[in-house]
Amino acid sequence: MKSKKYAQADKAECVACGACIKECPRNAIEIWEGSYAIINADVCVGCGKCASICPAGSIEVYAREDEDE
Ligand code: SF4
Ligand code: SF4
Repeated sequence: MKSKKYAQADKAECVACGACIKECPRNAIEIWEGSYAIINADVCVGCGKCASICPAGSIEVYAREDEDE
């Protein structure tokens, strides 16, 4: 059972500050090779905390409307 929303980070905008990682209640985010944040959409519940804390504004929350489950 997945949430109706999930977050994704834009690696072109991310400055790899790590603020989103500390904020995420699901530990869904990691920094890839010190370069940019990757959000595991299967774990993310779409709460939007990472998006509100991100200083670069690189995270957007999307609806999972294309998925059946
Ligand atoms: S939306 Fe919430 S659960 Fe998903 S990555 Fe951001 S802080 Fe974590
Ligand atoms: S808070 Fe924003 S800029 Fe910082 S690591 Fe997360 S996505 Fe990148």
